[in-house]
Amino acid sequence: MTYLDTGIVLKVIDSTIGNYKVQLSKDHLAYLPKSNFKKDSTIKLESYYLTSSWMVNGDDKFDYVNISLDEKLPYRSMQLINPSKIVVDIFGATSNTNWITQRLSAKEIKNVYQEQIEDDVFRVTIELRHQQHWGYSIYYADKRLIIKIKRQPQDLSLENMKIAVDAGHGGNNNGTSGIKTGILEKNYTLLIAKQLEKALLDKDAKVFMTRTKDESIGMIERTEMIKAADPDFLISIHLNSSVKDSIQGVSTYYRYIGFRPLSQYILESMLKAGLTEFGNVGSFNFALNGPTDYPNCLVEVAFLSNKDDEKLILDPEFHKVVATQIVEGIKEWLKSCKKDDN
Ligand SMILES: [Zn+2]
Repeated sequence: MTYLDTGIVLKVIDSTIGNYKVQLSKDHLAYLPKSNFKKDSTIKLESYYLTSSWMVNGDDKFDYVNISLDEKLPYRSMQLINPSKIVVDIFGATSNTNWITQRLSAKEIKNVYQEQIEDDVFRVTIELRHQQHWGYSIYYADKRLIIKIKRQPQDLSLENMKIAVDAGHGGNNNGTSGIKTGILEKNYTLLIAKQLEKALLDKDAKVFMTRTKDESIGMIERTEMIKAADPDFLISIHLNSSVKDSIQGVSTYYRYIGFRPLSQYILESMLKAGLTEFGNVGSFNFALNGPTDYPNCLVEVAFLSNKDDEKLILDPEFHKVVATQIVEGIKEWLKSCKKDDN
């Protein structure tokens, strides 16, 4: 299930070496690292927890769905497309909602509705006005569950965008290395990321770089830096490696289906520059693809384990071509967002 919010109430039913087995609802179990668990004997488990009224509203940038609950219950979320929806399942919750107030200040949310999909699993469905998912975050304010939804920007020009660019690895984390020359991934991801930064700044976009020099930054730290920068979307640059030295080409990766289009447009644009296709990869379990807060795309430019690709990666002109093609892909993606109303 990956992410669990802080302060969620769970019942422990069993234990393994490193994990607690916890009960989310009657029919759903999960494993939680023991280091992330804190026993609280003041909490008395109830036989059921109810949902109460909802409020749907917005401010100048986000829409919000507020759901009052009896307790901080575990949840999971999904992105659906065609039409675009966000689905949130709240475990251990039974519906007592008979009042959903919807205000005009909510601009991206088209409809919200509830469904009791199991005795104690409560489903919240949020229909969006645009095809493209721009991201959302879910958190508790006291015992109110809040789903905060980023609207599609009205101005979809590149100069209105703030783009996070991540150069993979760095410092004591070398990444992979070149098959013939032994060059290190961390140095070339930085060179390419810097070219991408330059190409974006040339188009008057705003850029946030996770690193601009050879330094060690962990995945949690990177994610927190990017979230704090509040970008419109993220591009992470890596170089690939395979045990088979014949494998080559460019690939892009996404985790959630709603963020797929950005990765498709970037791949298509890279292929126009004559790169070999490795493919577009979904459900990818890469830490920086994990956040739902903003669209994100991992670009594995080429394979350092392939001689021909390595030669390309060594060429500074190639870095410029990659940067230009990523920017062109982003532009095509933004163009596609303009015409896509649900
Ligand atoms: Zn890498």
